[in-house]
Amino acid sequence: MASDLEQNLADVRQRIARAAARARRDPAEITLVAVTKTFPAPRLAEAYALGVRDFGENYVQEFETKAPELVACAEARFHLIGHLQSNKAKRAADLFQVIQTLDSAKLARRLDGFGKALEVMIEVKLSPEEAKAGADPAELPALAAAIRDCPHLRLTGLMTMPPWSDDPEVSRPCFRELARLARELDLPRLSMGMSHDFEAAIEEGATHVRVGTALFGRRVKQPL
Ligand SMILES: *Cc1c(COP(=O)(O)O)cnc(C)c1O
Repeated sequence: MASDLEQNLADVRQRIARAAARARRDPAEITLVAVTKTFPAPRLAEAYALGVRDFGENYVQEFETKAPELVACAEARFHLIGHLQSNKAKRAADLFQVIQTLDSAKLARRLDGFGKALEVMIEVKLSPEEAKAGADPAELPALAAAIRDCPHLRLTGLMTMPPWSDDPEVSRPCFRELARLARELDLPRLSMGMSHDFEAAIEEGATHVRVGTALFGRRVKQPL
């Protein structure tokens, strides 16, 4: 019998394929980033065994405790999708291949200084009233230029988190705006869409969808 995760993964992949078909896009352009915050390392290993290669974690400290158990997942790419504090930048650079939440030139220069090749995306704040993290859209051209001056960082895209709503149509204008901003900056990747709204995100051009609950079930809050 298929495990819950195996079934959930098949369902999510099918929903990705259908959304891509509606938008006349190739589903191979869309990377599923499995969001694993609060889930223990063996759950990540299980997903890896089922073919998942991209994982999103929110907290440097939490992932630091799991990473030693995942050395066998040699082809995995780990994405930091939570806010990065500059005092954790070194550990983040060591642990992750992709930093999706870069939001200042200062942090970019700090990451660059460690000398490790990193893919980075800029987190954009599109809902000023709710989001605490992310760069203001007006700052983007200057920030992108500063990151492009960092020899070890490869800026590939933008990431955002719309204001919470269980109606995906509430997220759609944010997704559309992020896609417009990425075109202006000539950036090919868009990380947008979560369990409840990833299909709308794909219709608006997402190349990376960050899916947790739809794969692993509900998160039980645990003290960090
Ligand atoms: C937790 C989280 C997700 C995944 O959310 P689900 O609703 O569980 O799919 C995606 N992106 C970010 C930034 C998150 O913190």
